[in-house]
Amino acid sequence: MDLQLNGKVVVVTGGAKGIGAAIVRTLGQEAAVPVILDRDAAAANQLHFELQGGGAHSHVCIGELEKAANCHDAIHQILAKTSRIDALVNNAGVNDGVGLETGSPEKFVESLERNLLHYYNIAHFALPALKQSRGSIVNIASKTAVTGQAGTSGYVAAKGAILGLTREWAAELASSGIRVNAVVPAEVMTPLYRQWLDSFPDPEEKLKSIIARIPFDHRMTTAEEIANMVVFLISSRASHITGQHLFVDGGYVHLDRALT
Ligand code: NAP
Repeated sequence: MDLQLNGKVVVVTGGAKGIGAAIVRTLGQEAAVPVILDRDAAAANQLHFELQGGGAHSHVCIGELEKAANCHDAIHQILAKTSRIDALVNNAGVNDGVGLETGSPEKFVESLERNLLHYYNIAHFALPALKQSRGSIVNIASKTAVTGQAGTSGYVAAKGAILGLTREWAAELASSGIRVNAVVPAEVMTPLYRQWLDSFPDPEEKLKSIIARIPFDHRMTTAEEIANMVVFLISSRASHITGQHLFVDGGYVHLDRALT
C-alpha cells in the first residue's frame, strides 16, 4: 500500500530516541520529511545523519518543550525551514513517578509541564500550518491512562488528559479537515523503559513477569509496531479515522487475564 507520504513534513516531538525515533525512521522509509524535535541534540543529529546516509530527508530542531515559549520558538524555527507542516506527532514524555503520597502540589504541576502542556502548546502553535495543509495529529498516550499504575499521578493525569484532548481536538478540527487520533502503547523497550526496568532489584525477573502478562506472543511491543500505526494514521489511507484511541499492545489492556 502506498501511504502517499512523499515529501510530507511531519513534526515528531521526542523524535531522537525510543518510539519517536522509530516513527522518524518509518517516515523516512515512506519518503516523508520528518522533523526531529527533541532536547537531546547528540541523538537527534545522529539520527538525522543516519537518515541522510540512507537517502532520506529530515530536519532537526533542538528544544526543551516544558515551557510554552520554547514550543512557540520551535514551531517558528521549523516553519522557517520547511514552510509547511503536514502532520504533528506529540510523543515526548516521561513517566516521572510523581505520586499522590510521594509528590507535592509543585511536583504535580511540573509533571504536567513534562507530559501534557507541550502537547497543547505545540498543537496550538502548529495549528495555522496544519489548517493550511489539512493535516493530522497523532498523540502518543499510555495504557496507564486507563489502567493506572500507582505512584505516578502526574504522568497518568497527563496521559488521561491526552486521550480527552484527542476527542476534543478531533471534534474542534473536523470542520478544518484535520484528523486527530491517539496511539496507546503499553510495554515498549526504549531507553526510557530500560531506565525504569533497571530501577528494580532484579530487572530481568521483572521483565519476565511483565512479558508473561502480554497475551499476544508473550513479548514486548516493538517501537516499530507503534510507528507503523502512527504513520498509517497520519497518511491519507486513514482518511476517515478520527477521534480514535488505538491500543497497540498485544492485547495487554483489553484481553482476558486468564490468557496469562
Ligand atoms: P524515550 O526513550 O525517553 O524517548 C523520548 C525522547 O523524547 C528522548 O530523546 C527525550 O529526551 C525526549 N524528550 C522527553 N521530554 C522532552 C521535552 N520536554 N522536551 C524535549 N525533548 C523531550 O521515551 P519513549 O519510551 O520512547 O516514550 C515516548 C512516548 O511514549 C512518551 O510519551 C511515553 O509516555 C510513551 N509511552 C511509552 C511506553 C513505553 O513502554 N516505552 C509506554 C507507554 C507510553 P531525554 O532522553 O533527554 O529525556
